[in-house]
Amino acid sequence: MEQQNVILTGFMGTGKSTVGRHLAELLGCEFADTDVLIEERHGSSVAAIFAEEGEPAFRRLEATVAQELAQRQGLVIATGGRLMLDEANAALLAATGPVFCLTADPHTILARLREDGAQRPLLATPDPAQRIAGLLAERGPAYAAFPQIDTTGKTPAQVAKELQMLLDKTVLSVAYPQGSYNVVVGEDLLPSLTSLADISGPVVVITDTNVGPLYAAQFGPAAGVITIPAGEQHKTLQTVQFLYDELLAAGISRQATVVALGGGVVGDVAGFVAATYMRGLDFVQCPTSLLAMVDASVGAKTGVDMPQGKNLVGAFKQPQAVLADISTLRTLPPAEFASGMAEVIKSAIIGDPQLFLRLEAAPALVTPEDRIHWADVADFVTRSIEVKRSVVEDDPFEKGLRAVLNLGHTFGHAIEQASGYGIRHGEGVAMGLIAATTMSAELGHADESLTARIASVLIRSGLPTRIPHFLSADVLLAAMGSDKKKANGRLRFVLPRDIGDVIIVDDIPETTVVGVLRACGAS
Ligand code: NAD
Repeated sequence: MEQQNVILTGFMGTGKSTVGRHLAELLGCEFADTDVLIEERHGSSVAAIFAEEGEPAFRRLEATVAQELAQRQGLVIATGGRLMLDEANAALLAATGPVFCLTADPHTILARLREDGAQRPLLATPDPAQRIAGLLAERGPAYAAFPQIDTTGKTPAQVAKELQMLLDKTVLSVAYPQGSYNVVVGEDLLPSLTSLADISGPVVVITDTNVGPLYAAQFGPAAGVITIPAGEQHKTLQTVQFLYDELLAAGISRQATVVALGGGVVGDVAGFVAATYMRGLDFVQCPTSLLAMVDASVGAKTGVDMPQGKNLVGAFKQPQAVLADISTLRTLPPAEFASGMAEVIKSAIIGDPQLFLRLEAAPALVTPEDRIHWADVADFVTRSIEVKRSVVEDDPFEKGLRAVLNLGHTFGHAIEQASGYGIRHGEGVAMGLIAATTMSAELGHADESLTARIASVLIRSGLPTRIPHFLSADVLLAAMGSDKKKANGRLRFVLPRDIGDVIIVDDIPETTVVGVLRACGAS
């Protein structure tokens, strides 16, 4: 850690310099402020440089300072408000350490700017608070690329402590049209829920009968806990009704935050409840299964199954934060761990060839006896989330592009459903990845050898690759017909052409689908 820099960005008045100084003191390292460096070098104030030489000249000075600081290590760097919004500066500095964006509400910003007494054109406008709100809205999407730390109502020392706590964890920011949320990946996160997820009101934890007894107490005695039976068969409207009743009986109001503690089932059900109870409560995901960490908890899809098929009723509900506490994976049953690996492997195939190479090279990485290589697991989780993030940010409401995340899932869901959910989601996806790759090779999109490469990684992760013979191709085809991933009534498949290169293909003839299913083991 001491070799890395820590970079602070954010709008003026969010406290970058003050917080930066506190943080540098806490870490025992040197502090640098880009505006101060520019003023020292140039011998005049930022305002004077703007007035006398114009903004482009100031931006050139900023770029020079960014280049210099990128050569150094172990610094806390407070950057000028727009320095990190320049792509080249951001790329240079972000390569030297984690970047955090400080935020505050417009009134706090205004109060702080008035307090520091500096002459600012912004303050001379008729309604400065409104002007600040406008600028924040304008720049918000650019700042959303960085993990956000709200400083409203906190002292600089408190914010510095919060940052210090995050430094041994990975923090990713996931942006959506109206905002962004942080995904924190690390060990032993649950006891710090309220500070990591920035929760101020009451907390209601929704968990299941397996996970609750193991981890709910880590949130402390103040958190209310509601427990649902574990298992996909409980991802239903009946469970949602039960949760509404419990929340009403406990007098839970809109000030509360719903925290999902569990696998994808808990996350999907609790998210749907958070989206709809009292027209929406704040929601935090604490995924405890590998599958939920790398897939279900990111992307805002929530919902329940219907007798007609999986996930047919639901809502998009953006979380306030996602805490992927990988220490909870120690108690995850090996078959569930393997199931999550299917999504890690899927992510690698969709968009991270380097991760795939690592999975290929790793010696029997996740056999039940030898499954926990913690540094690797944290990295697999982070990289898989990065793949999912890049896709969902481009398509927050699943209008098109996001379909690539369904690689292996059209087959996988049908296999799960036709087996009466006796086959796990990840196992179905593993078989589905092979079916999709077989189909891709059959249609001439991929080389035959791709199937063997993917199969070998799946097998070493403890996953099945053949569809069991007791499932018939006709039944599976019918199950695909009820899957909502059909496009305009036609079956749509995501097919890998190579590692890191997938395409979406519509209109595949049913005879081809049946042929592939039989080639992959179905009767
Ligand atoms: P799950 O929630 O049923 O969890 C699997 C099992 O592991 C359960 O028995 C659970 O109690 C147990 N468990 C979880 N964490 C544990 C831990 N740390 N220690 C001990 N036991 C633990 O299933 P899952 O595989 O996590 O998720 C599958 C669900 O996620 C499916 O319903 C699927 O549709 C959904 N999903 C949703 C999305 C989305 O975008 N919303 C994406 C992918 C999958």
